[in-house]
Amino acid sequence: MLGENYLYFLGTGGSRHVMAEQLRSTGGTYFQINGVRGIIDPGPGALAQMVKARPLLKPEELSAVILSHGHIDHCNDVNLIIDSMTRGGLKKRGTLFAPGEILNGENQILFNYLKPFLLGIEKLRPQKEYHLNGLSFSTSGPHHHGMETYGFSFYSKQGKISFITDTSYFPELVDFYQNSRWIVVNLVLERNCGNAQHLDINGVKELLLRLKPEYAVITHFGKTILRKGPPKIASQLEKEAGIKKVFAPEDGERINLK
Ligand SMILES: [Zn+2]
Repeated sequence: MLGENYLYFLGTGGSRHVMAEQLRSTGGTYFQINGVRGIIDPGPGALAQMVKARPLLKPEELSAVILSHGHIDHCNDVNLIIDSMTRGGLKKRGTLFAPGEILNGENQILFNYLKPFLLGIEKLRPQKEYHLNGLSFSTSGPHHHGMETYGFSFYSKQGKISFITDTSYFPELVDFYQNSRWIVVNLVLERNCGNAQHLDINGVKELLLRLKPEYAVITHFGKTILRKGPPKIASQLEKEAGIKKVFAPEDGERINLK
């Protein structure tokens, strides 16, 4: 069981409208990679979706909690997850990886009382490698998202698995995520008409065309994407970018990394 690498989508929703209406859950992504269980961006509903999952995803089996940035749809449940993972500090456990402004200072999101419950707190820096038990991952350079934001690349027996979190499109993204075998990308908008710092369908298509992963997953859908239909967009991207398979998961869907 521990040998298998997979992603479990606690929530495939993103953006303020989808979050406010809970059109999709906004709990982020649970993963098991190289025997380490973790969660990326535990937004609202992360814990609720974990305990609803079958087989159950137990908070006390998590070792890594990773935040890309401090917007509420990405981090709302982080304190809840840490308290549950450690049973209110009875069992010291897990490492939190997050941008510095989440950990300290006037915009701090992490409750101070939780800090001693964790085995480790790592302040993320651009383009650095991190190791936890069998897990190795690196941060991207800073994304364009109005606050300190990183994406992540994990190194596994299935190759490089990258998470392109919230950002607008800019050319260096291609350097950060090159040679990825899997790409999980936050697709929020159908079309970025203004200066929203999010990827739209064209931006994701451009990235997939340039990066050429074997598999891609779209998630973190905004309202315009949900209206158009994520599976339809996934098959369009598959054809237009020449990707073997683009997944458009539902909430509670597990994708085995192959
Ligand atoms: Zn954001």
